[in-house]
Amino acid sequence: MTSVTVWNEYRHEKENDTVGEIYPKGIHTVIAGALESEGFETRTATLDEPEHGLTESVLNDTDVLTWWGHAAHEEVEDKIVNRVYQRVLDGMGLIVLHSGHYSKIFRQLMGTTCSLKWREAAEKERLWVIEPSHPIADEIDEYIEVPEAEMYGERFDIPAPDTLVFNSWFEGGEVFRSGCCYHRGNGRVFYFRPGHETYPIYHDEAIQQVLANAASWVAPSDGPTPDFGNTEPVEDIEMTDDRSVH
Ligand code: ZN
Repeated sequence: MTSVTVWNEYRHEKENDTVGEIYPKGIHTVIAGALESEGFETRTATLDEPEHGLTESVLNDTDVLTWWGHAAHEEVEDKIVNRVYQRVLDGMGLIVLHSGHYSKIFRQLMGTTCSLKWREAAEKERLWVIEPSHPIADEIDEYIEVPEAEMYGERFDIPAPDTLVFNSWFEGGEVFRSGCCYHRGNGRVFYFRPGHETYPIYHDEAIQQVLANAASWVAPSDGPTPDFGNTEPVEDIEMTDDRSVH
């Protein structure tokens, strides 16, 4: 069974009444509940736990990590970020959500600023499925409509995704690459845009379906473990001085 650790900064829910009403037990419990009902084994971890809840043993037992953060990215210790980074290169899947675009881990994996335009005006968002055969789009209609969303607009300073599954349109006119797939080392990374804390976005069935699809897609595959370094030839070849590489 795929083991998912749902990580959340878990500050807004405790400090803001609106957010606290939408997510009384935190965004992480809603996401974990949705994934559990789709057959994933879940646990949660939050910023204020020791080691942010991401100890070596937790991460070693995690197939997929989901990441929601916003106001306290800088409080995430570099040591833990590097631990997550290594696990991704080793094959752990990572789903970065909404304002997690500015998290240390996402910026480290992308190698860019991950900056974007934004506006908070309760605008309508349509996430268009632009790669319908991709497993992350399974069971999703031609588009997902979010009635009230925070706007994120291009330019989004990320490397071109390996596959772009969703592209968003906003009422105010902007567009945004909102479902981005990457391969990093042996791991897979999916960035998914929706999830501003003052709207009940993670209660939405279609959004939950995308999260479950994404957890399946980023989960470690059964591919071979690469063998790096100096290597013997697979076929018999004559190792003459001319051909040997120093
Ligand atoms: Zn937001």
